[in-house]
Amino acid sequence: MYVHNIFVVYALIVVVMKKTLLFLVLATLLVAGCGRRAQVTELTIVPEPLFTLQKEGSYTIKGSPKISVSGVGQNSETVKYIMKSLRQGHLRPRLVSSADVSDIDLIIYDTVNTEIGDEGYVLEVRPSGIRLSANTEVGLFYAYQTLIQILPADISKSVYSSITIPECTILDAPRYAWRGVHLDVCRHFFPVKFVKRYLDVMAAYKMNKFHFHLTDDHGWRLPSEAYPRLNTVGSWRVDRDNEPWGKATPPREGERATYGGFYTREELAEIVEYAAVRGIEVIPEVEMPGHSSAILAAYPELACDDYPYEVAIGPYWPPKAILCAGNDSSLALMYAVLDEVCDIFPSKYIHIGGDEAVKDNWEQCARCQRRIKQEHLEDEEQLQGWFMAKIEEHLHQRGRTAIGWDEVSENGMWSKDDVVLSWRGQQPGMNAARDGFKVVMCPTDYCYFDYYQADPRYQPASIGGLVTLKKAYEFEPAPAGINSHVEANIMGGQCNLWTEYINTPSHAEYMLLPRMLATSECLWSQREKKDWNRFRRKVETQKDRLAAKGYNYCDGNFTPQFTARRVDDHTMNIAITTEVPNTYIFYTTDMSTPTRESAIYLGPINLERGTHIKILPVYQDVERDSVYEFVIK
Ligand SMILES: [Zn+2]
Repeated sequence: MYVHNIFVVYALIVVVMKKTLLFLVLATLLVAGCGRRAQVTELTIVPEPLFTLQKEGSYTIKGSPKISVSGVGQNSETVKYIMKSLRQGHLRPRLVSSADVSDIDLIIYDTVNTEIGDEGYVLEVRPSGIRLSANTEVGLFYAYQTLIQILPADISKSVYSSITIPECTILDAPRYAWRGVHLDVCRHFFPVKFVKRYLDVMAAYKMNKFHFHLTDDHGWRLPSEAYPRLNTVGSWRVDRDNEPWGKATPPREGERATYGGFYTREELAEIVEYAAVRGIEVIPEVEMPGHSSAILAAYPELACDDYPYEVAIGPYWPPKAILCAGNDSSLALMYAVLDEVCDIFPSKYIHIGGDEAVKDNWEQCARCQRRIKQEHLEDEEQLQGWFMAKIEEHLHQRGRTAIGWDEVSENGMWSKDDVVLSWRGQQPGMNAARDGFKVVMCPTDYCYFDYYQADPRYQPASIGGLVTLKKAYEFEPAPAGINSHVEANIMGGQCNLWTEYINTPSHAEYMLLPRMLATSECLWSQREKKDWNRFRRKVETQKDRLAAKGYNYCDGNFTPQFTARRVDDHTMNIAITTEVPNTYIFYTTDMSTPTRESAIYLGPINLERGTHIKILPVYQDVERDSVYEFVIK
């Protein structure tokens, strides 16, 4: 194919160009056309498959692989995706009608393979060719994502004349059905193009639920025909993006609200469709009854008081803005908004918030207090339960299942048909699962990726906390010792990306990656398949894949970790590591500042107690962070 193309181009060039220039162009094309040869020997797949058998043989893919399709239409979305993706990998795939002459076979089984379920697959690389098989198109899609990870890391941008990959059999299926990633587009608004990139990287690591946080104090991002002021007022705030989030100056009187926006119906439909091709369900969140500044700025009559609410700027705590639960118009707005949401989003699940509802206003409000009496409720907590139950009922009538943040399960009124998202640690989720609720785990300690991922002194400003890659990898949705019937109620987990401190797509990628890869392996792979040391090495290859696709990511946490062993009363044996493999550790013990000329750490060292050790981590030829100093005790 390459040769053929070159002659076509050659013929054209002869007509229009002078000979000297022609020579240069032709030489360039020949180099590009021939490309390099690649040989892959090691499998570095994330998330780790259920079963992998690597053999001695290999298979070589040439520039124009022939693709056969069976059990699924050649025009199906998945096949079209695979063909397009292979072309982006600078191959020239061709569909052929028979598996006898093909290089890669895409197969949906005639008879269901019970070992792999709906999302699993079998990938076989033989000296005679490659075969991807699954029960469903999603399974086939995942088989292909695994195949991509067997190809060279820079496949998405480099040209290869041939790629040799190891003979192997991979049988794979996920541990959990819910493998979620959340994105807050309220604190900062992100364009559709970026949302698609986000979905792309989710799909590459087999994440299948996109929790789209669309409404909050800082902006309303859903289109609404029924309540247009949600968009003309609620979607916009006074622009303080040139100031640190924590130090935003309050708006001046009459200052125009110019930061924000909202997605159109067409854009959201486009996102839903784009996600569906990639096996991802888009789950919209409409926050209520708290976090309602944007609604109350647009419709102040839905507040308990006559406070002049504005779309929030900077830190907003405690989040006092809450819909008046004693006013039927509050429910009417939410019913109408959710009807619009159901029209746009086909998802089984709709998230209705429920967290951090500060009820000071309800305590003071005559209408809310009247509602409590009329409905025979005990207190304001139950009033929230009553409000959410009304919304749940409305969604059930539309055939949908509600999800709420874990606070919703505490007043005894959340429906057992609906789902609880455990974010304040895992205990609320454990309690809910014990009470018979379906639960998704996203505890802040492991899953909040707005937290720092390395030494805060050398990282972009974040909301606080610390979830390093290693910590994210320690996430276990079903903690050890859990009762099996409680465990059965845990549907999976997700990582959350709140964007107070994140105002560009590039920064959002940096916070998500590579930590999402850890979440992916925690949710897809069986517990016994998890191996931190293997994972951290695989991540090094995955970083190259991400870089080739232009994703921004964090290189990791270079803070030295010590293991100390007593040798005698005066001496300790010290082992030093960082989370990132291939980090060189230079050190001094004489109080001088370490440089790359200092001693290099090669293995555990004996040091006297009281010694000051100073460490300089170097990774990929760059000095990381500053110098770390420790005293041996
Ligand atoms: Zn009220």
